Amino acid sequence: MARVLRSPVDALSCALLPSFCNLCGSPLPQLSFAPICNACWSEFPIQSGPACARCGDTLDAPAHAAGLEDADLCRRCRMVPPAFVRAVAFGLYQGRMKAAIHALKYDGLHPAARTLGKMLALSIAQLADEAPAEMLVVPIPLHRSKHAERGFNQARALAEYALESLRRSHPEWRLTLAGSTLMRLRATATQAGLTMRQRRLNVRGAFSVSDRTLVDSKHILVIDDIYTTGSTARAAAEVLMRAGAASVWVATLARARRVSDIGYAAQLNTEDSETDGGFSSIATTELQQERNYSSQDQPSF
Ligand SMILES: [Zn+2]
Ligand SMILES: [Zn+2]
Repeated sequence: MARVLRSPVDALSCALLPSFCNLCGSPLPQLSFAPICNACWSEFPIQSGPACARCGDTLDAPAHAAGLEDADLCRRCRMVPPAFVRAVAFGLYQGRMKAAIHALKYDGLHPAARTLGKMLALSIAQLADEAPAEMLVVPIPLHRSKHAERGFNQARALAEYALESLRRSHPEWRLTLAGSTLMRLRATATQAGLTMRQRRLNVRGAFSVSDRTLVDSKHILVIDDIYTTGSTARAAAEVLMRAGAASVWVATLARARRVSDIGYAAQLNTEDSETDGGFSSIATTELQQERNYSSQDQPSF
């Protein structure tokens, strides 16, 4: 737990110097733990409306209302069901949430991890009624070069704080952090111009299970900070299931909102790409997905 705590020097400098909210710039009370003000914390965007029962993606209202079979699933989950049982998120990856996650990842804002971890705990708690009573908690790993550059894995930091919070809110739930279960085999390269299928294959090969006996017959909860197209979560779940896991569940802090029928929130930056397997462009569209799914059997592919 100590690894993500603010260093004594940081704590001292915070106590001595006036500080300001990293997101809006308003002055902070003397003893705020994270450099983010209460107003900002309360303005984190939440997902609303019908969502896919598997991946949690926003459902198109008309299809949902038409009463089709599997109407509670999104198109992608109907066509290519994920290896995970269900993916949940706390909020949407935009506005204050996006700013806070960026601060955590790119400005080394470790103190934010505690409050963001509590939000992740609320995300995980959505699974409390249906997920197994005992699970291994597996953060999505960074490649070691990325880890060396950033100094910490935000998914693991968030998971540690979330578990701390869940031990209080759900003491009967046996969730055990297994931080080194998944390995990222390589730094994922730019994948611009690749089809959805090529991207999926590329990400799938990016993970491996360090020790199969660790996951054999275990229920696994995969943790990441952002859920974008779902390719990372799907790839991790496939690897874990192939290694013998009994079931895989996914919880993230924030989900990229599909802003229309033709795209995920375009505000995703390329620097977020490692969360989704290193895509240089996350503007994966439903249309593109359809086209690529339908092209899977073509020999030219
Ligand atoms: Zn603020
Ligand atoms: Zn879905």
